Amino acid sequence: MGEDLEKLKQRLPLLDYLRQQNWSARPTGHGVEFVGLCPLHAETRPSFYVNARKNLFYCHGCGQGGDLIRFVELSRHLSFRQSLTYLERQSAPADPAAVLQQASAFYQQQLDRYPEARQYLEQRGVRDLTLIRELQIGYAPGGSLRRHLLAQGYSLDLLQHTGLVNPQGHDTLYQRIVFPCCQDSRIVNLYGRSIGTAFAHRFLAGAKGDLVAWESVRQFPSVILVEGMFDLAVLWQAGFRHATCSLGTHLNRDQFRQLCDRPRTVYLTFDVDANGSGQQAAQGLAHRLRAQDITTRRVLLPPGHDPNSFFVQGGDARQFHSLLEEALS
Ligand SMILES: [Zn+2]
Repeated sequence: MGEDLEKLKQRLPLLDYLRQQNWSARPTGHGVEFVGLCPLHAETRPSFYVNARKNLFYCHGCGQGGDLIRFVELSRHLSFRQSLTYLERQSAPADPAAVLQQASAFYQQQLDRYPEARQYLEQRGVRDLTLIRELQIGYAPGGSLRRHLLAQGYSLDLLQHTGLVNPQGHDTLYQRIVFPCCQDSRIVNLYGRSIGTAFAHRFLAGAKGDLVAWESVRQFPSVILVEGMFDLAVLWQAGFRHATCSLGTHLNRDQFRQLCDRPRTVYLTFDVDANGSGQQAAQGLAHRLRAQDITTRRVLLPPGHDPNSFFVQGGDARQFHSLLEEALS
């Protein structure tokens, strides 16, 4: 612990940290000493001194002094332990998966605070609380993620790099139900479904990851493939745990490879939309899967339906089961 502390302080010198926080200072003429306005109390004449060699500060105005950890405790009103966590994040190499994980956890906490979010889920037929937790469904109200993550010590650079915050500095996801997208069990993206008037589907920059929950689905000899997360949620809720989701009708290379990783039957259950695009995509995919010796069945929902609307409008597990049995080969 003591040793880690020393390493942390070496990795992130006090003076560097203060400069990152926009502290401006001038050398006092004593070589390693700098002076500037105190960040801890209001003053007009500089009385905050930093000794760069000793890595310590002292303010003659408010009498506070100490090392980097002490400075973070005082300036951010954190405990010793919280300050350490904060500083470790500040000085660690940027890890997009970690920040996406934090964002997803934050969004999950918001779900209960916004009645409109739960109402939307209800409207899409998603009611089972265990399932909501299992799929890590969250809600992005918009306007509060950036502050939350900055306070945790993540840099604005990293937030913008992951796309959580847009180039203008605002939360990217706004009034959207949020699902994490994973690759090898790490979150690589977030998918947000608008509950308002904004464009329905939104991903952050970057890859959309694996087939959803593939680790638990791949063991089944036959799987149901759907294009949307709300399709998946209602199918799981109805007991069809061998359903997975490609988040759109176009499978990326990894998702396609996953479907082909052993002999199985794939029930393609894409939307039956008026322009026929869902079924066209299903036919194209069936063709490519058959070339890999995968048995395919095309499930035909009633016109105008996707699996979600089928269940929301009163369809039940028994009826969906008959659709699977009648699926076209
Ligand atoms: Zn002071």
